[in-house]
Amino acid sequence: MYLTLGQAAREAGVAKSTISKALASGKLSYREKNSDGYKIDPAELFRVFPKTSKTAGIRCVCGSFDLRTIRTVPRDGFVLHRLECRDCGRRVVTVVPVNAPRIKP
Ligand SMILES: [Zn+2]
Repeated sequence: MYLTLGQAAREAGVAKSTISKALASGKLSYREKNSDGYKIDPAELFRVFPKTSKTAGIRCVCGSFDLRTIRTVPRDGFVLHRLECRDCGRRVVTVVPVNAPRIKP
């Protein structure tokens, strides 16, 4: 199964323009381009845009790792991620520390 540009952007968690720029520059290759648009191989997509590493490894209570980000809420020093399990529909909340260390005054 191949992804359209819009699907690819959603899967990778980036803007559509990011995907189209990557396609135009050749950074991201595609299988086909026709009147329906691009057909992008998911494996190629995740090679260039690794799957939402921020929440990778987080598992739903049902055992699934297939979590979709609903929203991210930036806080002081961490980011709150609200996720939804694609398998059972449960909501999962996780907290990810902000990578960049804060500069103390
Ligand atoms: Zn689940």
